[in-house]
Amino acid sequence: MKSITTLDLQYAHRFYGFKGEAQYLHGHTGILTIEVEDSVNPGVNMVFPCNEIKKVAWDVLRNFDHALILREDDPLLPAILEVYDRQGIRKGHPQNTMKGAAFKTDLATAYPDSRLVVTKETMTVEGMIKIVYDLLKDKLNISKLTFTSGANSASQEFDVCGTIDRCPLCGIALNEKGVCPKCGYSNSRK
Ligand SMILES: [Zn+2]
Ligand SMILES: [Zn+2]
Repeated sequence: MKSITTLDLQYAHRFYGFKGEAQYLHGHTGILTIEVEDSVNPGVNMVFPCNEIKKVAWDVLRNFDHALILREDDPLLPAILEVYDRQGIRKGHPQNTMKGAAFKTDLATAYPDSRLVVTKETMTVEGMIKIVYDLLKDKLNISKLTFTSGANSASQEFDVCGTIDRCPLCGIALNEKGVCPKCGYSNSRK
């Protein structure tokens, strides 16, 4: 069965070199739907608690929220950094608190201090699905991702192999020692 959750991200981007309006900087509310597939955990009668899916995803995806997303070869990137530098906000600011952990994958690098994500490919809805899957595939049994931004939407299904050991008391993934990081349940003491 599946547990399904959505979260939304406010971001600015542009399609550098694209022949259309999207070559100009603009913003969106993007809606990401994450579908997680596994057995139903009998202890809690859920595949995975939706608020926990959201939490795991938000930990890294927070970097895309109220962020500027630019392709690595976009000349706006050095221009923006120069302005942020001049303003003294490139390396962070006391009011820039909604930061996720910095990440770097083959497809994207997050710079939380300057609320920038630099991507290898143009950040279309399709591009975002590739980036998100790469960031979350080892943390959640993702069977489908859908990303909608304005009139644009893309989705991709993924093969899920295996099952994740989850806590029978609160439903979240057990750590490598078989202990629940939330409630302390241990599968060695059952
Ligand atoms: Zn756009
Ligand atoms: Zn637990």
